[in-house]
Amino acid sequence: SRLLGAAVDEELARALGRVVESVDGGKVADGIPELADVDPDRFGVSVASVLGRVYGAGDTGVGFTIQSASKPFVYAFACETVGTDAVHRSVGVEPSGEPFNAISLDELGRPENPFINAGAIVTTSLVPAADAEERFSRIHEALSRFAGRELDVDEEVYTSEADTGHRNRALAGLALAAGSLATDDVDSATDPYFRQCSLIVTTEDLALMGATLANGGVHPLTRDRVVGERAARDTLSVMATCGMYDRSGSWAFRVGMPAKSGVGGGIVAVRPGEFGVGVFSPPLDEAGNSLRGVAMLEELSARFGLHMFDHL
Ligand code: GLN
Repeated sequence: SRLLGAAVDEELARALGRVVESVDGGKVADGIPELADVDPDRFGVSVASVLGRVYGAGDTGVGFTIQSASKPFVYAFACETVGTDAVHRSVGVEPSGEPFNAISLDELGRPENPFINAGAIVTTSLVPAADAEERFSRIHEALSRFAGRELDVDEEVYTSEADTGHRNRALAGLALAAGSLATDDVDSATDPYFRQCSLIVTTEDLALMGATLANGGVHPLTRDRVVGERAARDTLSVMATCGMYDRSGSWAFRVGMPAKSGVGGGIVAVRPGEFGVGVFSPPLDEAGNSLRGVAMLEELSARFGLHMFDHL
């Protein structure tokens, strides 16, 4: 695409500067007490190509918790491990048009959208394991392989999530009652879910995780096949329709890239066959998406023709 043909680092720095000048405001997530402590002025962007070139501007080395941006990667791992059909029996593929913490069950008792909490907790429960610890250790390994390095858990954020996650435990309880949670022990789904949300990443990690999906499941640098092509395709399909909470429609319209946001301020976006993008800026809009992160991807999409329906 036109982005990789340009002087990428310079273009990213210029785009970052334009967004800093024109976009201000938003509100750092306060639902989880430990998340409210982050520096709101941090702002970074990274791009990783399927050929393994990594570019960036701004705060590309700053760690933040992945939060909901973990959801597509756990989804890919679940599809790979138990098969897409089994995943579909427990969780739908519909953009529910509802906020991330909505109570969501369709007429079959499945959460509609795998990328809001209800659906993501069910997806986590689908990873086969004897207990919470084993389930998280499999997810931890899979997400680390997507990043190409071993990721760490932010223990303070995890403890804070676990202490305050009553609504998430309630969502898991409703899914259990409806027959879609894959375990009858709610904590063995929510505990690994809280830990997966608390994994620390940088924009560079998110870009490489996205590039692994862009590359059909093979990490561009380690050459590790993390998931198969089918699981990568299925995950990108859901990212294209369900990745931005109740702004997924306007995102598809304005940016046109499969993506997923998290309340930590990160967004991962994918240009299939070409590259992954990771952005980070903590202040969020009303939907819980990074305000400057969204603006950055709108800027890059418009300037470099990254919308999936550009150049037809
Ligand atoms: N850990 C957060 C929660 O479950 C993740 C939500 C998010 O990033 N939207 O509330």
